[in-house]
Amino acid sequence: TTLTVELGERSYPIVIGGGLLDSAAEHLRAVGVPDKSPLMIVTDDNVAPLYLEKLESELTNGGYRVVSAVVPAGEATKSLTVYNDLITQAIEAGLDRSSAILALGGGVVGDLAGYVAGTYMRGIRFIQVPTTILAHDSSVGGKVAVNHPLAKNMIGVFHQPELVLYDVDTLSTLPPREVRAGLSEMVKHGLIWDRAFAGWCWDNAPRLLALDPEALIYGLEKGCAIKAQIVSRDERENDLRAILNLGHTLGHAIEAVAGYGRFLHGEAIAVGMAAAALLGEERGGETGLYGETMLMLRALELPVTLPEDMDTEALMSAMQRDKKFREGKMVYIVPTEIGRVEIANDVEADAIRDIIERLK
Ligand code: NAD
Ligand code: ZN
Repeated sequence: TTLTVELGERSYPIVIGGGLLDSAAEHLRAVGVPDKSPLMIVTDDNVAPLYLEKLESELTNGGYRVVSAVVPAGEATKSLTVYNDLITQAIEAGLDRSSAILALGGGVVGDLAGYVAGTYMRGIRFIQVPTTILAHDSSVGGKVAVNHPLAKNMIGVFHQPELVLYDVDTLSTLPPREVRAGLSEMVKHGLIWDRAFAGWCWDNAPRLLALDPEALIYGLEKGCAIKAQIVSRDERENDLRAILNLGHTLGHAIEAVAGYGRFLHGEAIAVGMAAAALLGEERGGETGLYGETMLMLRALELPVTLPEDMDTEALMSAMQRDKKFREGKMVYIVPTEIGRVEIANDVEADAIRDIIERLK
């Protein structure tokens, strides 16, 4: 299947299916990537032994000149240090304004390689080749960044890809915990936008967890389509796009306070979404909002509670660093029913404190 992300005058395709790595050259040609300048593939050291050779040889056979850069797997790689190494490699390989950078991997590689592509010579072509479920979210929408030691995603630009080439065959090697974490962002797209899709994720949780190809393709298509619609309406997050942050204010705080790694991103936002649903129900949202959200997340084997020893005040100050409280209130994405959220600007710090305590 091919979906299209419409952005004013521009648009780009998201191609989703099996066996796509084997026809990558054809897809690059279709979006006008010329073969006279070298391409650079950026990937990490988990993904490289699995899929790099396949992509390299497919592109080489298709007439492209290819150089590859392998970075260490993990969030710590989204740094200015690794960024600088990649720029050095790009210069040494002779990448020029007509070159493209391909991100083969999950959100870490996508965000990092995208930031290189968005800034090298003031921006060159960028192709996303996602290999995680979570990356159905991160590869669409053009937000690319590296982390600063004091804050996540602090250094970045908007740089849309020319193509998202999503070969679902690569997902078969994902560790189960990464599968679950990726499904968290998938059900998020249902919870903010589409009640029927949220229900579908719930009903099909066992198939999704078992990586049933048909279920996976449908869920990824639907998730990407929702993300694409939202990004089309608000590319630079002036208003609507903020709804994609459901569960993320508390989620980011959980990741930071627990120490990166103890909670995967998708796990942390699952707890964040449970908290937001509880807040939503308390603020007059539909009855059953919290209970149903919890059941959905549990069906996907995601966490919905906080460890007892997690310090509430540490979470509160981490949230404060992420999003400022103004006069004791903060902007928070709050569900009103399954499939709908509001951007609330009147949530009291004390209300959040109370919810955190109740989730322990
Ligand atoms: P990731 O890129 O770290 O991948 C998770 C792990 O799986 C890594 O160890 C990786 O090496 C491994 N892996 C990847 N593909 C594999 C495969 N096919 N088989 C086996 N192992 C594989 O993490 P992620 O969850 O994909 O992405 C998280 C990142 O995405 C975070 O940095 C987050 O900030 C970012 N993100 C960005 C956006 C955005 O809009 N730009 C949105 C959401 C998340
Ligand atoms: Zn996220």
